[in-house]
This record gives sequence, C-alpha cells and structure tokens, in this order.
Amino acid sequence: MSTVVINNCPDYTLTNVMEKLEKGIDLLGGWRQFIAPGMKVLLKVNLIGPKPSDSAAITHAEFVRALTRILKDHHCTVWIGDSSGGAIAGIAPTARSLMVSGLREVAESEGAVLKNFDKEGVVPVKSTIDTKPMYLAKPLFEADLVINLPKLKTHSASIFTGAVKNLYGCIPGLRKAEYHRLAPDQFALGQVIADIHEAVNVELHIMDGITAMQGDGPTAGKAYPAQKILLSTDPLALDTAAASMIGLNIDDIPILISARQRGLGEASPSKIKILGDYTAPPRLAGFRLPKRFRRLRTGQRNHRLIVKVIELLKARPRISAKLCRGCNICVESCPVQAIHPETKAINYTACIECMCCHEVCMYHAVKLKRDNPVVDLVARLDPRMRS
Ligand code: SF4
Ligand code: SF4
Repeated sequence: MSTVVINNCPDYTLTNVMEKLEKGIDLLGGWRQFIAPGMKVLLKVNLIGPKPSDSAAITHAEFVRALTRILKDHHCTVWIGDSSGGAIAGIAPTARSLMVSGLREVAESEGAVLKNFDKEGVVPVKSTIDTKPMYLAKPLFEADLVINLPKLKTHSASIFTGAVKNLYGCIPGLRKAEYHRLAPDQFALGQVIADIHEAVNVELHIMDGITAMQGDGPTAGKAYPAQKILLSTDPLALDTAAASMIGLNIDDIPILISARQRGLGEASPSKIKILGDYTAPPRLAGFRLPKRFRRLRTGQRNHRLIVKVIELLKARPRISAKLCRGCNICVESCPVQAIHPETKAINYTACIECMCCHEVCMYHAVKLKRDNPVVDLVARLDPRMRS
C-alpha cells in the first residue's frame, strides 16, 4: 500500500505553502524520516524552459522558496537544480530559465545553491534502449537526498506530466533530444524515464498543483487554479492520484504504463491510501485535456479500428507564419531535423511527433492541428479537449 497526501493550498503565499508542506510531511512520517542536520538536499524542480513562475509551466519559485526555508530551518544545505529542454543558438537554455523563473533570486535570498545540470558534470548509468550508457547530471548522485518537485500539467505528447516524467530533466542539455530520437514513441520514452528512476535515488516527491496547467501543456496551455499540493514517497502512486484528479487513469498515459511495467510504484487506486484534506482524489471540474488526447487502452493498441480513430484524432505540429519570429529554437531542438530552417516547413515523414517544437516555442507559434477539419470540429465539441 502506498500513501499520497493531497492538501488544499489556496495560493503561493509563503506561510500558506509552508504550513501545507509541513502538514503533508507530518502525514508521511515527519521530516526526521528524510533529513538530518548537515545533509545536502537537492530540489529537482520542473524548469522546462525560460518561463516565469506565473506561466504555470514550471515549479513556482515561491513553492521552492517555501521548501528551501523549511529545509534551512532543519540546518540542511539546499541545492536547486534542473536542465531545461530545447536549445537556443545550440545551447541549452537552463541558465536563462533559472533567471526568468525567479529561482536565481530565491537561491540568492534564501542561501541556496543553484545547480545548472548542464554544467555540473555527468555520471554514466545503464540504459535499456541503448548499448551505450546514459549520462545523468552529477549533483543527483552527490546530494544526500533528492526531492522531486514536479508540476501538475498536461502534455501535448505525453498527455500528462507529473512526478514520473519530471526526472527526464536529469539528462543534461541537448542530450535530451538524442533520447527523443532513440525512443520515438511514448512507451519507449517511458523506458528511458524508468531507467532514470532506477538510477537516481529519489525518496520524496512533492507536486506543485497550486496553479496547474490545462489544455496544450507543458508550456502552451492555460493556468488552472487547482489549489493542491500532493506528497508521496511513491512517484507512480502520486501520478495515479493526480491523473485521476483531471479525469485520466494510468492506461491513458503511455509513460506511466511503462512505469507500471517496470515496477516504479503503485498504480492501482485501491492500493493507494489518500491522506490529508481528502480521502479520495478530488475531481478538478472543467479541467481541459490536450488536443492530442486519445483514450488509448493497452489491450486495444493493435485493434485496427482504434488505430484508425487514433490517426484521425492525431493533431500534428504546424508552424504559424503569422506568429513565428524566426528564432529557430524549434529548428535546433528538433531531434530529427524535420523543420526547415528557412521556411519552417515540417517534414512529416521524418517527424517523430515528440512535440519538442511545441514545447520550446516561446511565442506559441507551433500549433497542434488535425488534418481533417470535420474530426477537428467533433473533437472541439468534447469539453475535455477544448483549449
Ligand atoms: S516556431 Fe517558434 S521556436 Fe520556431 S522559429 Fe518560429 S518563433 Fe522560433
Ligand atoms: S517537427 Fe516537432 S514534433 Fe516533429 S520531430 Fe521535430 S520537434 Fe518533434
């Protein structure tokens, strides 16, 4: 049996967040179970790109400040780290993301240390999809405790992103694109992420679900005031609870199906004890799912009709000439070089639908569109898919 604590938290006011975090940790057995004075604690945030905290795309800086302050009160050294996705002029944008997010300011004012995963060295670990080792950021292995701080968000490719997927940022810099190429579908990507969970010892997962992202996340969706903080020692149980809050279950999310196959945690709702302000995961009314959402049950994957429906419902990336500023971040981030650097036309034969271009465009110029306008209209009538 795994435990997930779900607490209400109305906003990012520091006292509110600190109080709800403390109450949540008490229900998991108290801080003494996780920390001791003098320990180095790494907060692995979600810093997907250079986005401000109020964009709902990243772990909010005030959420990180609250946890940093609690850990400092317990005489721990706090590190804050991640590696952003995408590339700007051939370089991963993590340094810029740390500044734009407000995390640099949090670190400076709270006495924490920033760990830009792109610049801290790497440690080789075993990869199940490649004969070569996978390289992960060194601070993950130097800290005494790693706390995963995912954001509650939709994802245009993965449908949902939470505690399990947040560890993808442990792969430094542009190497992330390489793993998208090696694992072109979400089930294979789930194996890469499972490799990371097996290599890195993360003992605690705390989800920032105060302001969630709905619609076409992980960066281009809209904010949703979910007002929740979720805590667990089990990343899959936490994601199972969070997904059910937005009307999904594990079988809708290929990465979590892979996580379940690899035994990363508990995925059966009947074996997950909910504590805190709820006894069962509360449903978030009107929460909008990504356009690409398709109810893909494992047992049905090879059914021809289902496959046809999936193809029809598929929304592909298209670049809006009107909104595009020509920065070429998408061109440099595409793992298979499918975007023409001048015209921005996408070669759909080469495209592996990783949605990295959609994820990294800061101008919302990469739109997700269906080929068939009738199907597009029908899908729009489903309130869960509107965005
Ligand atoms: S689509 Fe977005 S990321 Fe790509 S070149 Fe245009 S503005 Fe830049
Ligand atoms: S065009 Fe976009 S979705 Fe297709 S492979 Fe490139 S980055 Fe991924």
